[in-house]
Amino acid sequence: MTDRLIVIGGDAAGMSAAAAARRRDPELEIVAFERGSHTSYSACGIPYFVGGLVEDADRLISRTPDAFRQAGIDVRVRSEATAIDLRARVVTVRDLDRGRERDEDFDQLVYATGAVAVAPPVPGAELCEPVRTIGDAQRFRARLDMSGARHAVVVGSGYVGLEMAEALVLRGLDVVLVDRAEQVMGSLDAEMAARVQQAAEGVGIRVLLSTALEEVRHHADGGARSVLTSEGELAADHVVLATGVKPATELAAAAGLTLGDSGAVSVDDHQRATGIGGVFAAGDCAESWHRVLQRPVNIQLGTHANKQGRIAGVNATGGGLVFPGVIGTAVSKICRYEVARTGICEREAQEAGIDVVCATIEDRTRAGYYPGSGPVWVKLVAEADGGRLLGGQIVGVEGAAKRIDVLAVAIWTGVAVGELELFDLSYAPPFSGVYDPLLTAARQTAKVVRGVR
Ligand SMILES: Cc1cc2nc3c(=O)[nH]c(=O)nc-3n(C[C@H](O)[C@H](O)[C@H](O)COP(=O)(O)OP(=O)(O)OC[C@H]3O[C@@H](n4cnc5c(N)ncnc54)[C@H](O)[C@@H]3O)c2cc1C
Repeated sequence: MTDRLIVIGGDAAGMSAAAAARRRDPELEIVAFERGSHTSYSACGIPYFVGGLVEDADRLISRTPDAFRQAGIDVRVRSEATAIDLRARVVTVRDLDRGRERDEDFDQLVYATGAVAVAPPVPGAELCEPVRTIGDAQRFRARLDMSGARHAVVVGSGYVGLEMAEALVLRGLDVVLVDRAEQVMGSLDAEMAARVQQAAEGVGIRVLLSTALEEVRHHADGGARSVLTSEGELAADHVVLATGVKPATELAAAAGLTLGDSGAVSVDDHQRATGIGGVFAAGDCAESWHRVLQRPVNIQLGTHANKQGRIAGVNATGGGLVFPGVIGTAVSKICRYEVARTGICEREAQEAGIDVVCATIEDRTRAGYYPGSGPVWVKLVAEADGGRLLGGQIVGVEGAAKRIDVLAVAIWTGVAVGELELFDLSYAPPFSGVYDPLLTAARQTAKVVRGVR
């Protein structure tokens, strides 16, 4: 008899696992359950669809359920896993259209349920726009198209909140961005985040920090009317919640899978859920080893989800691939600035008790005389003793952000800033000054390490 692999969750991690398993084992029976209607969609593209840069939501779907079926993967959409019995090796699945439940046997299981939005515990919050799935985005865009709305409030100023705020400005709305934190984008240090805030304000977004959401008020028909905050009431025809997500681990926890301190499923470096043979977890619902912090973390990014899913699929079919960990490399575009980070920021170093030095430089993205040249700020974080690079943040105009990948490789391979300052990086006027901003930032940081200002 052939083995049977069940995948729970039909997006980045789950379908990467299913596709990798299919490639390795043509005989294996593979069944993927997805409670929504789509598979392998790009949640990352949702702000661009809502903002109108992408006209058709189908463009965000990289592979449909039918395409997977043609490749020999039995995808069942509108099918929600409701329980896992690890001893009996059975998943209970509810058909959401017919309301029926049935048990499905498995030999191997990939748990890839992603993350769920966390709404603040205030009255009315449950009726806001969560913008997590293609379905959410389509409903929201249809409401925007119909409503003739003028005011929108976005709650939460992480990159998703900022991208959504910009999208709503593109739709012609007056947008207020509210966050109870003292800065936007908590994944950056405050002075770098302040530049991102300026970019948001530059397109007319009103940013209200240290402001707590207290209530979302609705009209009788359910549409939003206003939000009440600690700083007063704001008119709001639409309210977008981007207040963070948590790993979707309810099923896993109920089944007895071990959760780590982050609340995500604890896995080893082969994506195996600890202690249970043949059970894997991947993506937003799983922990990853942080190579700088040297501990498991739960960082929710498509980059990790795709890789971890593939590794889970390979290993579920007898492979031996290792997921080497993460360093939190992320990039986004917020209004006129590109924003990127990798490794740890200064605040994270302090929280982790790591003794670091930092330097921030301002430079130009291209040669000063070349058209399109604009500002870029680079902040580096290095170990005080020896100068090993531990983190980098970049904010700047077009062309700035993908430089972060050089810093990511330097952190990954243990390069010190004193070495980075003389790296053989490329130069031509359309791309940088003769010293790339990274080299200048590394030189400044190396001086601090050596105690020379
Ligand atoms: C607006 C937005 C922008 C983003 N931008 C970026 C970006 O620019 N770069 C980046 O790297 N990342 C980005 N991300 C994050 C990225 O989308 C996620 O990290 C990635 O989708 C995680 O993939 P996943 O498969 O682990 O989880 P998900 O994509 O959440 O997929 C999990 C799937 O499991 C299904 N599911 C859950 N429970 C069950 C169940 N019990 N039964 C059946 N099905 C179930 C869900 O319906 C879902 O489809 C963004 C996310 C959002 C929301």
